Amino acid sequence: MAYNSAFFRALQDIVGKRNVSEDPAVTENYRSISAQTSAHYGPVDTRTPRPRAVVLPGSTGEVQQIIRLCNKHKVDFKASSTFWSTMGYIGSDNAIQLDMIRMGDIEIDAKNMIAVVEPFAIAATVQVEAMKNGLCVNVPGVGCSSSTLASTAGWVGFGPSSLFMGTSSENMLGAEWVLPDGEILRTGTLGAQGEWFCGEGPGPSVRAIFRGWTGAAGSMGVCTKIAIRLSPWPGPKWIPVRGAAPVYFADNLECLRAYTICYPDWDAYAESFRLFYEADVCYLAHRQFNLFGRDIKTAMVELITKDKQLCDLPGLVEDPYIKEQNEKMKIDVQVVIAGFSERDLAYKEKALDAIIEQVGAHKSEYYLQRDVEDFVKLYLLRLGRKNYNFTLCGAYEGCFGLTANVFRAAPVMEEAAAIKREFEETCTGLAAVGGDSDMGSVSGIGGGGTTGWEFFMHFDGFDKETIKEANDFVETSQAFMTKHGFGPDFCRWNQDARQLDGYDFSQEQHDAMYSKINQPALAEFQWRIREAFNPNHLTGSYYRTLTPEEYRKK
Ligand SMILES: Cc1cc2nc3c(=O)[nH]c(=O)nc-3n(C[C@H](O)[C@H](O)[C@H](O)COP(=O)(O)OP(=O)(O)OC[C@H]3O[C@@H](n4cnc5c(N)ncnc54)[C@H](O)[C@@H]3O)c2cc1C
Repeated sequence: MAYNSAFFRALQDIVGKRNVSEDPAVTENYRSISAQTSAHYGPVDTRTPRPRAVVLPGSTGEVQQIIRLCNKHKVDFKASSTFWSTMGYIGSDNAIQLDMIRMGDIEIDAKNMIAVVEPFAIAATVQVEAMKNGLCVNVPGVGCSSSTLASTAGWVGFGPSSLFMGTSSENMLGAEWVLPDGEILRTGTLGAQGEWFCGEGPGPSVRAIFRGWTGAAGSMGVCTKIAIRLSPWPGPKWIPVRGAAPVYFADNLECLRAYTICYPDWDAYAESFRLFYEADVCYLAHRQFNLFGRDIKTAMVELITKDKQLCDLPGLVEDPYIKEQNEKMKIDVQVVIAGFSERDLAYKEKALDAIIEQVGAHKSEYYLQRDVEDFVKLYLLRLGRKNYNFTLCGAYEGCFGLTANVFRAAPVMEEAAAIKREFEETCTGLAAVGGDSDMGSVSGIGGGGTTGWEFFMHFDGFDKETIKEANDFVETSQAFMTKHGFGPDFCRWNQDARQLDGYDFSQEQHDAMYSKINQPALAEFQWRIREAFNPNHLTGSYYRTLTPEEYRKK
């Protein structure tokens, strides 16, 4: 069976006529240009397929009815909440897209320090509601216009705040989930006694099945509500700001201090991270503005904070003061400390200074300017301007990844930067910004641990030639990653989950891939899980599986 007009009429009956459409003027908008967002299968010049219909459910009951209908008619489906990523788009011609925009409730339980959120509650709003209660939420690096539920239940979710507030996989508590076969699962205390504060019961964890570390990218059905852990916020109930879109400055946010720390070498950089973890001193920490590139990053921050235009960039890059400051910031990181009392802030200032001295680093004078500091505080806290990622050429990909302990990653940073610099100099379509354009989180886990360094490669996502150049670069960065034992390049995490033409892989294709891996039992185990929860295989190929027959042959 496949999608047909009876199926469409049944969708209308479930959600009402105004909440479902098969008009190409609507459905065409639900295709991802995977060259320019978070696709993780490389820069490509194709789009994901057009869904047969787009449906906007308004309740868990409606989601359940839609999924049951999909099972009855064998129609593929995928839910997405804020659509920053290609992972959330469908991958076949017999599929419908669920857009969760109608479900956006937020409840704060201040006593238990949790928020209960629906899919379209975006991080900006969750954060504001949390702050009214002296609490704050981890905003992943994708920014505050992204769905808190999607990054918590669906895909990855670390950012500048993860060191203090934990990453999304750690923060997910009770969840309500409509499984791919239409059953509703309620986890932990929610299932046991209707309360949200704990996600797990005794025994094996279902969170590991539906969420795991990176997330199942929409292939385990539709999560309709979750509770997430919140963290203490020392600031006011609302943050006074000055400035105008797109640049705002936090006003009088005296309980926070933002610094950029400059290091003499990568050993000092790595050692300071260890000390940050040990001293528990950072509220937010990220190597952020280096995403613009080592040669132009200070000029770009000057441009942003001083209300200038991109045409001013060449002049700013040549400005003697900016040049001198930039030179000192070759190896740098942004950190924000937060004082929960005056004494706490004084202690953290002292501890930070001691760490800086111990590793032979210094605070950037440029970033001590009041306006610049006020900009950085708000930027790292809210991540409200992810459009900066796209400024230089309209599209970017994060390459390398170097997702490992910082002591493994730091020694190879310059080698990675040199490879990128060579490509920048020989390719006409990649922005030449100084090789090192590496950015990322000081920790991808609460308390300190793994880091992830992506080198931003800026290119034009609408120009086939520059897409090809970007792809050639990824081939080289992947070879580097393999040589150093770092695994898949950031751009290749999903290369086995979706084909380059935007379509799902078939089971035969997956069998051919996974029968060759070192531990095929893993993919065979996932096959069993999928059979248990998704017997009709309706949610695409992000769940990597190997059929038992092929496994036995192997
Ligand atoms: C500019 C940019 C910067 C980024 N930086 C970071 C970063 O620093 N750290 C990081 O972790 N990630 C980062 N990412 C990746 C990011 O985590 C994901 O792309 C992001 O979570 C997806 O955006 P979204 O929140 O709009 O979710 P969506 O795109 O809506 O969904 C993300 C995934 O979750 C699934 N999903 C969504 N809603 C549901 C639901 N209700 N039930 C079940 N599954 C669902 C979708 O199918 C999809 O696979 C970045 C992405 C971009 C574009």
